[in-house]
Amino acid sequence: MFINLLIVSLLVLSVVVAMAWRSSSNSNSGLVEQLKRNDIIKSAVVEQAMLLTDRGNYVYYYPYLDAPQLIGFDATISAPHMHAYALTVLQDVITVPNAKILDIGVGSGYLAVCMAKMNPSAKVYGIDIVPGLVHLALKNVMKRDADLLNSGRLVIREGDGWVGIEGEDKFNAIHVGAAAESLPKPLLTQLAIGGKLVIPVGQQGEIQTLVEVKKMSDDDDFDKAYQVKNLLSVQYVPLVKDN
Ligand code: SAH
Repeated sequence: MFINLLIVSLLVLSVVVAMAWRSSSNSNSGLVEQLKRNDIIKSAVVEQAMLLTDRGNYVYYYPYLDAPQLIGFDATISAPHMHAYALTVLQDVITVPNAKILDIGVGSGYLAVCMAKMNPSAKVYGIDIVPGLVHLALKNVMKRDADLLNSGRLVIREGDGWVGIEGEDKFNAIHVGAAAESLPKPLLTQLAIGGKLVIPVGQQGEIQTLVEVKKMSDDDDFDKAYQVKNLLSVQYVPLVKDN
């Protein structure tokens, strides 16, 4: 019984390592090239943004491996293929002129920087509920991408994803990097017409779904106002409730 379990565990481990290895490299450009070859990066806009944002400035351990990594405070930087996927789904709304973008659970800061680099006229807000992670994101961005902070094109600050950012213009793109039990209503309200929210939804320990919500109109009827699409099964840390 124990031997069987051991063999199965070793097999699973070897598959995981093999999958990660497919998109592993020892440089940022090598990682991007691998993601492109594996058809995960599909557009020049996403490719350029990821080439210009060296993941080595955002994570200490194995930055060029296609796997999530710990960044402290019980948080992880998502795997590069998930970042590439989110950027691809949101590309059309990130690249509208003067786009307003919100990255919730900014964590390492990496994704918010990629978003800013996809559109020179965009303004990106990155928020996180953990002050230590806001500090980390700012520290990481300062290494090579300080111009984004200095110009005000990227703002990183403390904030709660269940609330979003009130009193601003509506957002063209909202990305949430942590799993919510249900769709946070304020985020739906803060979407511009034509704008998209990408958010993992589901309980911890259960299969979560990455969901895309597109705002179609201001109609009071949810089904007329929003188009909801289930994208794929995922596993994210929880979008915590600040009681
Ligand atoms: N997207 C980031 C980090 C993902 S980890 C990256 O790839 O680097 C999930 C992040 O969500 C953590 O930084 C965590 O602190 C943050 N988070 C969890 N609940 C939150 C909430 N209610 N509001 C804002 N951020 C939250």
